[in-house]
Amino acid sequence: MTNIFEYAPAPESRAIVDIKPSYGLFINGEFVDGHGTSFKTINPATEEVLAEVAEASDADVDEAVRAARRAYTRVWSRMSGAERAKYLYRIARIIQERGRELAVLESIDNGKPIKESRDVDIPVVAAHFFYYAGWADKLEHSGYGSTPLGVAGQVIPWNFPLLMLAWKIAPALACGNTVVLKPAETTPLTALLFAEICQQADLPPGVVNIVTGAGDTGRAIVAHPDVDKVAFTGSTEVGKAIARAVAGTEKKVTLELGGKAANIVFDDAPLDQAIEGIVNGIFFNQGHVCCAGSRLLVQESVADEVMTRLKRRMSTLRVGDPLDKNTDVGAINSAEQLAKIRELSQIGEDEGAERWSTPCDLPSKGFWFEPTVFTGVSQAHRIAREEIFGPVLSVLTFRTPSEAVEKANNTPFGLSAGVWTDKGSRILSMANKLRAGVVWANTFNKFDPTSPFGGYKESGYGREGGRHGLEAYLKGADA
Ligand code: NAD
Repeated sequence: MTNIFEYAPAPESRAIVDIKPSYGLFINGEFVDGHGTSFKTINPATEEVLAEVAEASDADVDEAVRAARRAYTRVWSRMSGAERAKYLYRIARIIQERGRELAVLESIDNGKPIKESRDVDIPVVAAHFFYYAGWADKLEHSGYGSTPLGVAGQVIPWNFPLLMLAWKIAPALACGNTVVLKPAETTPLTALLFAEICQQADLPPGVVNIVTGAGDTGRAIVAHPDVDKVAFTGSTEVGKAIARAVAGTEKKVTLELGGKAANIVFDDAPLDQAIEGIVNGIFFNQGHVCCAGSRLLVQESVADEVMTRLKRRMSTLRVGDPLDKNTDVGAINSAEQLAKIRELSQIGEDEGAERWSTPCDLPSKGFWFEPTVFTGVSQAHRIAREEIFGPVLSVLTFRTPSEAVEKANNTPFGLSAGVWTDKGSRILSMANKLRAGVVWANTFNKFDPTSPFGGYKESGYGREGGRHGLEAYLKGADA
């Protein structure tokens, strides 16, 4: 779609991906049919049915957990860390080699722009495997001991399908655990391609098992008595249900849940960079980002200027075909998510906030939402409190640093925050006062495998990434 500039389309070819008409479950190193029904996965940019995917039943989950237990007891937990590392390095290198294929498939199944899947998701996926491969033979220096937990049951969402898989599988395997992972029901395809990569890497059967399905399959993994650790990324509502389900059991749990991050712009900030950071903070991945900078807190003295520049910049965002290399904002992942974004945006209007959307034509097929900003938002508004999980920004103003801190922290969530200012001392004092797991200074949405990521309050508990990410998969220093 074009806005104020005209470009010739530059679509990436999809010939590199081989999408099969149907997929089974990946259990014990093989693709099997499963005993349940099946569901369709579609391309959210065109509504084209991509494949029929098996829906794992309780019996299938049980089979996967048993395969993971066997592989844990007989092979993986007995292998030296240095040997496990070789497999992780091999997987990382295959991910790099097949990077273009993975990126195209991710954009087709998820709707995200190819420039993001190609330049962000897939490189960071490979980086996670490389990083944790490096830990596998050094666990005694981690501070968390070197004894694995056993079988990890892992459930992930649709916004970064392969990246969330990497965040879960790489540390689990490095520490000597085996896994049963369920991708989200709208984005199963790259996880199934990852299963093929496990075969290509000669990973011992049962070390990684991928079971596809929806909430019931996730519930069966969480409830399975032989799962030692549950790792979940997804909504706060489901996270709370999982916390209830495992309460009173021996299972270890980490929960990475929702967010409503404040992106705070002071009047001494370099405004051109801040505008880029605001745009990246909320429109990256269509705003389907748990740590998205969905609340802009801007100092009153520069609010008008920031809004003028922001709208001008938003008008240049190209919304459309995810496979076009010029696309900035792709498709919304599902009809359900689009309905949720529309509903909350309507509530924003009804609450009296002023809505402005970029002037762009949206494709007639598929799920789309134009980049949108709400001004005149107060802290009591639902669009300031609830996660919209779409390309919608709520703007609030502040006068003093303490007012910025108070407004930023006035949320049930605490995953991330951004601070834009010229003063290093202000960055430090803000970072100390903001109740958020990650605070970015003069940048936003930067991810690195060496850096821990996780939340406060209703954004969950536990950390993924970095040395801290090992804690979730080890028994502890004195085990
Ligand atoms: P969701 O909670 O609906 O689904 C997440 C996963 O859980 C899916 O695989 C789903 O099939 C499964 N599931 C659903 N019900 C279940 C149940 N009762 N038991 C077990 N599994 C169940 O979330 P979503 O809509 O797919 O993802 C969006 C949410 O994820 C947002 O709230 C976002 O903030 C959050 N998220 C958080 C992080 C983080 O690191 N904190 C990262 C990405 C996304």
